[in-house]
Amino acid sequence: MFLALLLVFIVTCLSVLVLSGIRENQRTMLEQSFAQQAEAANLRVREEYLSGGRIPPDQFMEQTGQRLAVDLGAQSGMAVTLYTVDGSFAGTSLPFQPRADVQDALQFTAQGQSAYITEGDQLLFLAPLYNADQRLGTVQFHASLAEQNAFYARIRQLFLLAGAIVLGVGFLIGYVYVRRQVSVIARLNRATSQIGQGDYLSAPSVIRKDELGELAQGIYDMSSRISTSVGALHEEKQKLIETVGRLRELEQQQKQFIGNISHELKTPLTSIIAYADLLAMYSDDPALLDDAGRRIHVEAQRLYGLVEKALQLSAMDVYEFETQAEAVPLRPLLEEAVARLQGKADNCRVTIHTSLVDGEVWADPENVMHIMLNLLDNAIKYNRPGGQVHLLNYTAASADGTHRMIIEVTDTGIGIPEDAVSRIFDPFYTVSRDRSRASGGTGLGLALVRNLTEKQGGTVQLVETGPDGSRLRVELLLHAFGSERIIYTPNDEARNE
Ligand code: ADP
Repeated sequence: MFLALLLVFIVTCLSVLVLSGIRENQRTMLEQSFAQQAEAANLRVREEYLSGGRIPPDQFMEQTGQRLAVDLGAQSGMAVTLYTVDGSFAGTSLPFQPRADVQDALQFTAQGQSAYITEGDQLLFLAPLYNADQRLGTVQFHASLAEQNAFYARIRQLFLLAGAIVLGVGFLIGYVYVRRQVSVIARLNRATSQIGQGDYLSAPSVIRKDELGELAQGIYDMSSRISTSVGALHEEKQKLIETVGRLRELEQQQKQFIGNISHELKTPLTSIIAYADLLAMYSDDPALLDDAGRRIHVEAQRLYGLVEKALQLSAMDVYEFETQAEAVPLRPLLEEAVARLQGKADNCRVTIHTSLVDGEVWADPENVMHIMLNLLDNAIKYNRPGGQVHLLNYTAASADGTHRMIIEVTDTGIGIPEDAVSRIFDPFYTVSRDRSRASGGTGLGLALVRNLTEKQGGTVQLVETGPDGSRLRVELLLHAFGSERIIYTPNDEARNE
């Protein structure tokens, strides 16, 4: 609307200027033409006057006015009326006497000036007639302004039409242009509120090569940067939440650990104190002495084992200590572990069978020894008299495509009840307190095994268990020479056995 009104204002100014120019021009042309006609009429009248007998001008006019008016009308091509010096009618080329009131104009001519009178389309031009300094009368030309007025009206109409067209077209162009800009701005507006709701842009909402296009690109860049920052913040927050959760869990575990260990330490100590008291009271009873000494030894051993494992476990939890990995030839290590437990196996009347292949794992040898001693110890402890333990190792590809060393300990023992399977790796968990205690168990062995294997990139799992025995499997990283990994073929026979 503003654009259209602006254009109309310009057209109006232009038309006013042009129309007033035309009016001015028409007036100048008329004046010039009337001045010429008046000059010619004056010449003609003076000539007539001089050729006469120099009679008084009024008399001259009364006598010759009618004839002169007709002559002058023919000469100028316009209707002509003549007046005497005192302003009375002297003659006209018209077929009738004009009735127009020209008294005011005649007074002007009496003072030697020309005058106009306009009446509708009619223009009357009055000019004084002279002979040297002597006034002879007044000549009045009758001109029609119809043609000029029609021309003027046509031009005005043209401007009006142009104004209307300009108004319409201006409004239309303005409307279309503003609509387009507004729709782009609305899209940008939607994009910003979308960003505000956390729905970030995947592309600029408008593609244009102007300021609005630049603005759209700017909004898109801003959205990408906010998205990245928010993503990073979210990630950080997630990590923090996880860390806090983990810390709480650790705190909880530690509390539980301290509670458990205090309880576990108390039991053997109570036994030791009780037997020590018995010793003091019945120092002369050799049978009691022997029994108390043996029991004190067993309880002290259990206490020692408990403290050792507890220290190891808590050290691992508290310090994320690095295991000193190296290439460890596995076979001799496994043989050594079997040898160390051979005495215990004999005592429990359990036979240990081995089926071992050569191979090197990438691990801390101390840790691997701890793992194997704990697993074999359990396989012996929770076995039946006359039972068997099978120890074997082989290499195999694991789920992630890498080759691993697998060690399996299978026993023909009492098995693990189904409801305990998921908890046997928890610290201080024992299937049955009595059963564990009787065999010197602390509930820390498998927790330690899991911690030690995982610390060196391995895994441990209970593969199967039942009334006929259990099988636990440890997977360790194979040592690689250069880029090649040494693959050891599994001893299928041994596994089947
Ligand atoms: P513990 O020192 O009491 O043996 P572990 O952590 O080594 O503690 O084992 C946890 C529990 O799992 C034990 O109480 C035991 O009942 C059960 N368990 C572990 N190994 C075996 C196995 N080879 N056969 C049967 N039960 C087992």
